[in-house]
Amino acid sequence: MQQLAIFGGTFDPIHWGHLLIAETALHQVPIEKVIWMPSFYPPHKTAALFEHRVAMLQIATRENPAFTVSQIETKRSGNSYAIDTLIELSACYPNTHWYWIVGLDTFQTLPRWYRGEELAQMCDWLIAPRLLGGENITQSELICKQVRQQLQKQSVTIHWQLLDTPLVGVSSSLIRKLCRDGKSIRYLVPEEVRSYMKFHELYRR
Ligand code: ATP
Repeated sequence: MQQLAIFGGTFDPIHWGHLLIAETALHQVPIEKVIWMPSFYPPHKTAALFEHRVAMLQIATRENPAFTVSQIETKRSGNSYAIDTLIELSACYPNTHWYWIVGLDTFQTLPRWYRGEELAQMCDWLIAPRLLGGENITQSELICKQVRQQLQKQSVTIHWQLLDTPLVGVSSSLIRKLCRDGKSIRYLVPEEVRSYMKFHELYRR
């Protein structure tokens, strides 16, 4: 049975924090591939054009043969729900054990996701600690355990582990704000992504 990981997100734009998480997952768990899954219609966000987000993902991931960018979400109309994505991917990759890579902030919201209880049991969760106001690793673990308990109350059992990765304070919203303010984003995103953003004048005021 092959082992694959999905890394879902808006990636508006992709940044070094995302890349570090995916690379950590590749080394911590015996997964063959990380499938980057940009949301076509993110349910709770407005985002830059899908084509731009995908192009930046492709530029940033092309040097790593274990990374692949999926555009499967373009095939569906309406909101991009994670469960639909996993069901579709399972049909494309039968006989696969699935992992889902997620930041701690996003994992906290799992019990409220559309059909979250079902999805929670369909894959193992690889959780990247994230600065949510000064948490350390022990607090990250505590937050994950609270999510597990919440789901247990609904008779849902989940498998999860924290990714052993340094905390990175960078976020896409920070990058967008720096761009709006005309400030430098060098060293926050891969250099070729920065050039792409500059060329297409993304996130300017
Ligand atoms: P925004 O700031 O616009 O909310 P983001 O930086 O959180 O964006 P997303 O594309 O929404 O980026 O994130 C995709 C996934 O990566 C989410 O699960 C998110 O929690 C996680 N993630 C993003 N940046 C980090 C980071 N610096 N550390 C840990 N997890 C992260």
